[in-house]
Amino acid sequence: MPDNNKANIHRSEQRPEFWDLSMRCCQLAATVDICFFAIFLWLGSPVLAWINVISVGMYAYAYRAFRQRRNYLAVMLIRIEVLVHAALGVVLIGWDSGFHYFLLMFIPALFASMHLRSAWILAICLWAYYVGLYVLMSLIEPLQPVSDRALLYVNIFNFTVVFLMFAYLTMYYVITVTRAHRRLARMATTDPLTGLFNRRHMVALTEKLRAREQRQPRNLTLMLMDLDHFKEINDQYGHELGDRVLERVAALLREQGREQDFVGRWGGEEFLVVMPESDPTQARIAAERIRAAVAALDWSDLQPGLRQVTLCSGISQMEEPESFSSAIARADRALYRGKALGRNRVEEAEPSDHPGAAVELSL
Ligand code: GH3
Ligand code: MG
Ligand code: MG
Repeated sequence: MPDNNKANIHRSEQRPEFWDLSMRCCQLAATVDICFFAIFLWLGSPVLAWINVISVGMYAYAYRAFRQRRNYLAVMLIRIEVLVHAALGVVLIGWDSGFHYFLLMFIPALFASMHLRSAWILAICLWAYYVGLYVLMSLIEPLQPVSDRALLYVNIFNFTVVFLMFAYLTMYYVITVTRAHRRLARMATTDPLTGLFNRRHMVALTEKLRAREQRQPRNLTLMLMDLDHFKEINDQYGHELGDRVLERVAALLREQGREQDFVGRWGGEEFLVVMPESDPTQARIAAERIRAAVAALDWSDLQPGLRQVTLCSGISQMEEPESFSSAIARADRALYRGKALGRNRVEEAEPSDHPGAAVELSL
């Protein structure tokens, strides 16, 4: 088992949720065993009752081991408890007690905690154990039989617990997977520094918008922005401060954007706003508002003496069937015209010469 041990420890680092779930299972199983203790005392089977006291002790110890990050020990304790408890229950009061259902709970746990190959091997061993118990009970009588009515109650209790535990585990699994999925989707679509959409996602969103627009044409305008002399800020005050400036400008862009606009970080100190249902005149008004708001930002709390931060904007309206990269290139040319004309400016792009020209966009 040393390989499994390593795999488990390795996975514990990768999947804290799994160990969190295992700890909850310890608590649940110990609670169930406390119920069993009471049930078997009531049914007049003290031997079975005291077996549950040992089980509660094992779960308590496994829980402590999980807390101390001795995951391997904890998992082994739980495995031994379930295997022995299920077998004892079946051998003492019979197959119809339903104690064997608890063995089935192992199947998802095996696949969640180890490599596929090991999980399959152990699942087959578990199947053999299950079949072995069944065959054994078809050959011998239960060693400590209880009344038929008591057997019925125990059976109903057991499969109720197994139903509930399966439902709980499945719900927990689905919630965990959904959360992880959302986190991944956020990481894949946003820029970590500014929280704005990243370049790839801006391209995807614009293409999606355009596909929709082909059915229902609407004005789609791009606003490309670039901070002026940003390198000087980095050189003078350091990269860290440069990052804070980018964050604050990004927050302002998000604030200024309309509900339907998409705001993204296009490159280092470049931002892009994709504005559906906007013609260049409306986009120019929005760009002027942003330009003035950035120029008016007060940086004294961040860095006393930091000069005014300004930006240039280039605006281009997409001219169907112009490619996205061509519209971006026109906005970029307009932007650099603004740089050449003294910076802190908004410029509109020239109309497209070859609307159909499909230049591949480098992401
Ligand atoms: P211009 O007015 O012509 O745009 O000049 P500029 O200095 O803004 O342009 P240039 O392209 O020379 O420099 C851009 C700088 O942006 C250089 C690079 O170090 C900086 N930069 C790019 N990404 C980041 C970032 O994530 N954080 C910080 N702090 N700086 C960045
Ligand atoms: Mg630049
Ligand atoms: Mg710049």
